[in-house]
Formats: sequence, structure tokens, C-alpha cells
Amino acid sequence: SAPLSIVRGAGEAAERGILMRTGEAFQTLRLVGRVVFDKTGTLTEGRPALRQILAVACPEEELLALAAAVETPSEHPLARAVVQEALKRGMTPGEVEGFEAVAGQGVRARLAHKNFTVGSPNFLAKEGIDCSVQTRNVNELESQGLTVVGIARDGDLLGFLALGDALRSDAAGTVRRLHELGIRTSLVSGDNEKAARYFARSAGIEDVHAHVLPADKAVLIRRFQKDSRVAMVGDGINDAPALMQADVGIAFGSGADIAIESADVIILNQRMGSVLDAFTVSRYSYRKIV
Ligand code: ADP
Ligand code: MG
Repeated sequence: SAPLSIVRGAGEAAERGILMRTGEAFQTLRLVGRVVFDKTGTLTEGRPALRQILAVACPEEELLALAAAVETPSEHPLARAVVQEALKRGMTPGEVEGFEAVAGQGVRARLAHKNFTVGSPNFLAKEGIDCSVQTRNVNELESQGLTVVGIARDGDLLGFLALGDALRSDAAGTVRRLHELGIRTSLVSGDNEKAARYFARSAGIEDVHAHVLPADKAVLIRRFQKDSRVAMVGDGINDAPALMQADVGIAFGSGADIAIESADVIILNQRMGSVLDAFTVSRYSYRKIV
């Protein structure tokens, strides 16, 4: 049976909105030397909103309506933001067929017998779609921390949507405290390099890894594990492999079911500071055992 002080620590954690699923995670947490944060929905609030439409080959309103139709079956926060904006403008997104999500890259679907792709400029480029026409504008928007997704129809680029998310209000404070505890921090994101750097800078994280696909997030964790124990903080389907690989996986309870199932520690409130509370309670409880 678990030592009494761990049980007591778990109770204290629960009072602060942290669910420790295993006693082991609790004991490992105090040995962690690096915390890796996912960007979207973890470091940021995960409620992106449409900020700008860059039409290339069709009117702005049509671009949004098409993107919303293709994104309707998707559960990704970016997809929800696109659909929400279309509904707000009174649009009724069309019904698509053959919807397919490519984790960390984008989505595909058929609408009115045409093939649509919505996703990162990288993803579109990989599909053979030329995205070079607006490169300067896209770069500029990404430098402001925005996520730019392209929309293509039958292989032709129709335009881009720029979406913005906000840094969690206690993200920078949490990172600063972790550094004070001697814990190093990293940001890992499937998003573009410029947006990832923007949010890393805002939160005070020095080590940034962008364009990382879900499986590669786990590879990165394994690399960090050569130096120290690693905790991963995530929320999405794309974080599940990394949460499993990490010595301690920490997920937001508001996140995807698979992320929650893959984690050892669940944050039941929306506070980033709970990550810090988990560390503090773990260290404190362990001292009481010895
Ligand atoms: P993160 O690691 O920041 O949480 P993801 O791995 O979920 O991000 O996604 C990485 C990138 O893939 C996004 O920034 C976006 O460009 C693209 N993407 C993923 N899903 C979608 C979607 N449903 N619609 C549009 N783009 C998407
Ligand atoms: Mg995420």
C-alpha cells in the first residue's frame, strides 16, 4: 500500500485541482529536470479566433464558408474557430464527404465533387500545392504569433486564414518559477516556427521545437530523457504519444480524451500554475516520508 504521506499529498493535490493517477508519477515528479510544454491549448488557452482572411483565388466570404464546411467534422481547436466564425456571420457550411484528418497537419474532404485540403502551408506544399504567392504576408502574420492555414481546391490554392490564440495568463509566471526550481523548459509544437518562437518568447521558454509531428514529439522526449527525467504537459490527440513516453505525463482535463488517458497527472482547473502546485506537493510530500 502507498505510504501515508503520499496519500496525504494526493489529497492536497486534489484540493488544488490536480488528479494524480498513480503514486509512481507522484514520486517521479520531484526528480524531473525538464518540463516540455505543448503550445496550442497548453501554453495558450486553446481558444483560437479568426484574425484575418487572405484571399488568393476566391472572394473572402466564400473562402471562409468553404473552409468551415471542410472543418465541420474536425475537433481541432483551429477547426472549431473557423466554423464558429462562419456561423457568426450567418453562413451555413455545406456538407462534406470523405472527411479525413491528418494529425498535426490538416484535413481533407470532398465538397460538391471537388477535393479540398485545409492545413498548414507545409502540409499543402507536401500535397504539391503551390503556396508561394503570399509568402511575405504569411511570414508577417506568423511572426505575430498567428497560425496560418491554407485552403486548396483540386490542387489550387484559394487563400489563407490566420488564427490567433492567447497565452495563458499564468504561463510566464509558471515558467519563471520552474526555472527558479532548477527545472529546464522546452516548447514543442506542430505549428510553424515563427508562431512557436513568439509564444516561447512570451512565456520565457528558451528551447523551441516547431513543425514537430505527433510521433516525433515522443522521439524528442526520449532524447531529453538521456539527460534527465522529463515531464510533458499537453492537451491534444497529437500529444498522446509524448505524454506516454514522458516520465510524467500531465494533461489538462479539458483536453482530448486520449490525452487524458495517456497522462499520469490531470489538471482539473484551467490554471497553468497547477503544474507548479503538482511539483511543490510532490517535493513536500516526499520530504515527509524520509
Ligand atoms: P500543436 O502541436 O501546436 O498543438 P497540432 O499538432 O495540433 O498543433 O497542429 C499542427 C499544425 O497542423 C497546426 O498549426 C495547423 O497548421 C495544422 N492543422 C492541424 N489540424 C488542423 C485542422 N483541423 N485544420 C487546419 N490546420 C490544421
Ligand atoms: Mg495542443
